Amino acid sequence: MDFALSEQQQAFSETARRFAREKLAPFYQERAKQDSFDRKLLKEMGELGLIGVDLPEAFGGLGEGSVTSGIIVEEIAYGDFNASYIQLLASLMGGIVANHASPDIAKEWVPKVVKGEAIIGLGLTEPRGGSDAANLVLRADKSGNGYRLNGEKTSMSFSTQADAAVVFARTGSIEDGARGVSAFFVELNSEGVTRTSFDDIGTKPVGRGSVFFDDVFVPAEGLISEENKGFSVIMKGFDFSRALIGLECLAPAQASLDETWEYTKEREAFNRPIAQFQGVTFPLAEAETQMTMMRQLCYYTLSLRDQGRPHIAEAAMCKWYVPKVSCEIIHQCLLVHGHFGYTTDLPHHQRYNDVMGLQIGDGTAQIQKMIIAREKVGRVSLQHAKPETQK
Ligand SMILES: Cc1cc2nc3c(=O)[nH]c(=O)nc-3n(C[C@H](O)[C@H](O)[C@H](O)COP(=O)(O)OP(=O)(O)OC[C@H]3O[C@@H](n4cnc5c(N)ncnc54)[C@H](O)[C@@H]3O)c2cc1C
Repeated sequence: MDFALSEQQQAFSETARRFAREKLAPFYQERAKQDSFDRKLLKEMGELGLIGVDLPEAFGGLGEGSVTSGIIVEEIAYGDFNASYIQLLASLMGGIVANHASPDIAKEWVPKVVKGEAIIGLGLTEPRGGSDAANLVLRADKSGNGYRLNGEKTSMSFSTQADAAVVFARTGSIEDGARGVSAFFVELNSEGVTRTSFDDIGTKPVGRGSVFFDDVFVPAEGLISEENKGFSVIMKGFDFSRALIGLECLAPAQASLDETWEYTKEREAFNRPIAQFQGVTFPLAEAETQMTMMRQLCYYTLSLRDQGRPHIAEAAMCKWYVPKVSCEIIHQCLLVHGHFGYTTDLPHHQRYNDVMGLQIGDGTAQIQKMIIAREKVGRVSLQHAKPETQK
């Protein structure tokens, strides 16, 4: 296995690192209080070529591999976790639009995403629940040369800021399950769309909330993939985003760890630096070990994707394990800072609240473990017990 970065990857890494550490990190906490993402910053990241590098060159991307996208996500999230939502969504949603939407929509929207001129959101979760994602009720009914959408999507990142969204809707019957679900590209300034945002404990600039569809007309070309086939086709993209989420979450934990090692050299107790107490350094040494393993898992998963090899279980491992352990590491760093750690002056609490959201977003730990189990034993792991087997 070759873990060395190519010259090209090294260049992306350096550009992203400089931008993240000089431009993003110093104002991370200040921006974290805002309830919208700074569009100027979005544009700047686009101009630096740091958004959607994996997207096809035909649509303004650079056709880079998944590993390169991971490198950029990790660097950006080190400076500002919230900013890295831009790279995450661009790769996930931009990929869906580039690969499955109509050529006209892809030609218009993917370049805008890459340039930092547009955000495309994901409308999957509904009020009745997100884990059983295919069991959705928002309807899309044929109407003239298109469809009319009625219902509510909730918990959507960038709910009030996204310019468009890929919205999953039921075109078949409820009994059809995932086979009755289609996906649509919907411009969110369309007539009949209204939006709200939640008062979240973290990721405020990303702004999660509900989007309501009241007889919203979507032209036929807005159908992504084929009718009733959108769900299974598009869900494959989530294996990519799950590995990226791992890197997105471990980066703020690494930032907290780096700062905490420095603190242990400066802070004294009992007339010596606290770095001399194994009770202080051992948890940090354990965290470095976990960090190294998590980073390897994420890049391994992305490299499997780049080689076209199966990586469903690995992606689910990234998604459940890394956000959880990253939160634990940030918490430990906060504790090492003693009473200073408990103030909002230091960034640990902000990082903790931000990262915690992705223990839930994109699928909870339980759902990821179900996916891993399914990969191991097949679909039998998902079947309900038959009546005759129930006691
Ligand atoms: C920060 C953040 C960003 C998000 N961004 C988006 C977005 O952009 N677009 C979007 O569509 N959604 C988004 N979501 C929604 C997210 O995908 C859902 O919250 C998630 O899938 C879980 O759904 P739920 O919250 O409805 O929980 P539920 O499905 O109600 O589950 C509740 C609890 O029960 C557990 N559970 C459910 N079923 C099982 C089972 N079979 N076995 C064991 N345990 C089970 C779950 O793990 C969970 O702990 C976001 C959420 C967050 C927090």
